[in-house]
Amino acid sequence: MTTNPSGISRRTLLKGLAASATVPLAGCSPSPASPPLAAPYVPGKPLPWINWGKNHSCYPSQRLAPRNEQQLLQGLTQAKGTVRAVGSSHAFSALVPTDDTLLTTDYLSGLVSHDPATRQAEVWGGTRLHSLGPLLESVGLATQNLPDMDYPSLAGAIATSTHGTGKHFGSLSTQVAGLTLATVDGQLLDVSAQQHPQIFNAARTHLGALGIVSRVRLQCQNSYRLTEVSQVEPLEQMLSELDLRMSNNRHFEIFALPYSPLGISVTTNEAKAADVNQGEEDPGALNQLRQVFESVSWLPGVGESLYAWLLDKAFGGNPPVVRTGPSYRVLAHARTTRFCEMEYSVPVEAGPECLRKVLDTIERRKLPACFPIEYRHVKSDDIMLSMYQGRDSAVLSIHQFGDLDYRPFFAEIEPIFHQYEGRPHWGKIHTLQAPQLAALYPKHWQDFLAIRESLDPKGKLLNAHLKQVLGV
Ligand SMILES: Cc1cc2nc3c(=O)[nH]c(=O)nc-3n(C[C@H](O)[C@H](O)[C@H](O)COP(=O)(O)OP(=O)(O)OC[C@H]3O[C@@H](n4cnc5c(N)ncnc54)[C@H](O)[C@@H]3O)c2cc1C
Repeated sequence: MTTNPSGISRRTLLKGLAASATVPLAGCSPSPASPPLAAPYVPGKPLPWINWGKNHSCYPSQRLAPRNEQQLLQGLTQAKGTVRAVGSSHAFSALVPTDDTLLTTDYLSGLVSHDPATRQAEVWGGTRLHSLGPLLESVGLATQNLPDMDYPSLAGAIATSTHGTGKHFGSLSTQVAGLTLATVDGQLLDVSAQQHPQIFNAARTHLGALGIVSRVRLQCQNSYRLTEVSQVEPLEQMLSELDLRMSNNRHFEIFALPYSPLGISVTTNEAKAADVNQGEEDPGALNQLRQVFESVSWLPGVGESLYAWLLDKAFGGNPPVVRTGPSYRVLAHARTTRFCEMEYSVPVEAGPECLRKVLDTIERRKLPACFPIEYRHVKSDDIMLSMYQGRDSAVLSIHQFGDLDYRPFFAEIEPIFHQYEGRPHWGKIHTLQAPQLAALYPKHWQDFLAIRESLDPKGKLLNAHLKQVLGV
């Protein structure tokens, strides 16, 4: 998610409010119920692995870091037990953990080749998105879209159909024109719409269940510049103009502020020559928001309205924050506040109603939640297990601060998504199991399972989480 409720030029007011906020709200403070922070280092035990959200960990007995495809094939075929690939550990779901072999693709990084005529570039799968932008720019290319941060590896991002926002754009997986899979039986399989098209269609959202992705061929465009404008506005006004704003802008998204009629709009378009930066993102703004929320909420019956009033005073009428530059810099944002995240995509028409229901539930049940709710659009595709398969989607992301127990909050909200045939993000927190997931992917579920079975009949790549969500 993007949030720095950043662009907020009366930050001083918010900072001042936060500084004077000393009384904690019981429900929002770290409590003994907080999930234990995964894996301590224990002398004599293997070095622990832990994900960014710190909600999953494991103690892999073997770690592999192949430097080329030969080493990759050798490691993969010779490894004992379950093998899981790891990119930048940014998935919030338990896709990575294994106590057997953890295989990092960090050394498989960089640009392999590019073709100016087709604007395609072949990139090593372990390339982090923050390296990808400059690499592509060095040959005059850029991705059409990106998620709102650039920490993941390319292969890891594709694994879960990682996406940004924009009615006109699919997820990063839709920009894949071909890829190379190292399979457990020791082959390097090139797949594309022409070669092994069924495997290609499965591998563009592969969950790390089909093989190790060594190379990815991306369909790019000429490099370009963007300008992003972030502004605090009444949420209902944004929702009433949603179709227009989604249609008329290259990218548009909303951060709804719980317990407030306000939200933050983020509108991004191709840059004009005269565009200049204005204001700046404040990485501390989320924590300031939390401090203010915690300190007023203890006032029974008054806290919520006082909070809304304070936000209106702090943010109302602010000038926008403007960021302009190369596309890959503007689309990505820094994340300095740790959180855990649940995300569901629903049919695009249901998006506004679903968002209103989420906000209403938070307020009615007085849930300890002030983290902005992110609302994005993603274009439909026909990738087997893509969350956007067959439908244009509205995507709602729910966050909780990393030191708090997200479970009670997410448990109140998750059933709302089920009312709208919501599909959970494969890389984020959800509680669905194979039967429910299969029902959400009627067209291709069985096809994906059959391809997985044919590539890895003994389940060498299956960890406990994959067995659970795939039902194998
Ligand atoms: C701060 C933050 C912000 C985020 N923002 C967004 C966002 O804007 N949009 C969005 O859609 N998601 C977002 N996410 C979710 C995240 O980007 C995805 O879940 C992504 O899959 C993580 O990629 P990774 O490289 O970290 O992979 P990991 O988390 O390390 O692994 C994810 C999956 O990829 C597999 N994998 C990794 N490398 C390979 C390989 N070479 N071959 C085969 N399998 C492999 C793993 O086995 C695993 O199944 C965010 C997460 C965080 C923590």
